[in-house]
Amino acid sequence: LASRDFHPEDTVISIKGVNIGGGELVVMGGPCAVESAEQIDEIAGLVKAAGGQVLRGGAFKPRTGPYSFQGVGVEGLIMMAEAGKKHDLLTITEVMTPEYVDICAEYADILQVGTRNMQNFDLLRKLGTCGKPVLLKRGFSATYDELLNAAEYILAGGNPNVMLCERGIRTFETYTRNTLDLTAIPVLKDLSHLPVISDPSHGTGRRELVEPMTKASVAAGADGLIIEMHTDPDNSMTGDGVQSLFPDQFAGLLQDLEKLAPIV
Ligand code: PEP
Ligand code: MN
Repeated sequence: LASRDFHPEDTVISIKGVNIGGGELVVMGGPCAVESAEQIDEIAGLVKAAGGQVLRGGAFKPRTGPYSFQGVGVEGLIMMAEAGKKHDLLTITEVMTPEYVDICAEYADILQVGTRNMQNFDLLRKLGTCGKPVLLKRGFSATYDELLNAAEYILAGGNPNVMLCERGIRTFETYTRNTLDLTAIPVLKDLSHLPVISDPSHGTGRRELVEPMTKASVAAGADGLIIEMHTDPDNSMTGDGVQSLFPDQFAGLLQDLEKLAPIV
């Protein structure tokens, strides 16, 4: 079902008037984690003012260590839904377990599967019947074929609205957090009809690399970007402040993108 042979035309996912795929560029921006109602409200206003269409933010965080901040949970879903509604933005948030799919689907417009859960097949099956579009991140050690098979689980479950996301893979390089595999973008668009989103934040792990790799992703044919932005990155509650753009950098980048490709 994910194959272009089966479905020659690009899939366009329409959510409340925003089209993802099919030529328009979508920008999803926001913090790594929802931290408070004030934080997500302020950042939502900045995403909207910059021209973004989707507010990102994790309420449930898949942290490498069990003692790190794990997210604010269901309260965060509510805070994010309110900020999205107030600022007229769609929302995307990560869901980590099948048990939380229904509540995340109640509050968010798009559900995100994180890199660590790309092959959580029970989660993927549950997302097949959740009724909401899904952004599926590539596992950091997954091949294109494994990513497409993971998408297949969601599609086979009856949900046609899946986006593929390149977020960087693990290589021998340690200067960057991950290696953003730009080649994935044209390859996935060739093999599949599904929209392809690039995540230059996790793909590099370094703020100064987000702008060039965003532009490179657009040049490679990405249908959208998911970018971390924070008003106070040095004090963010996850370690991802180092890769988060300041609000003025985010706004400047979106202005530059307008010149590269029309944003929705
Ligand atoms: C995130 O988007 O904040 C995140 C945890 O992403 P990934 O699953 O790509 O690490
Ligand atoms: Mn993050």
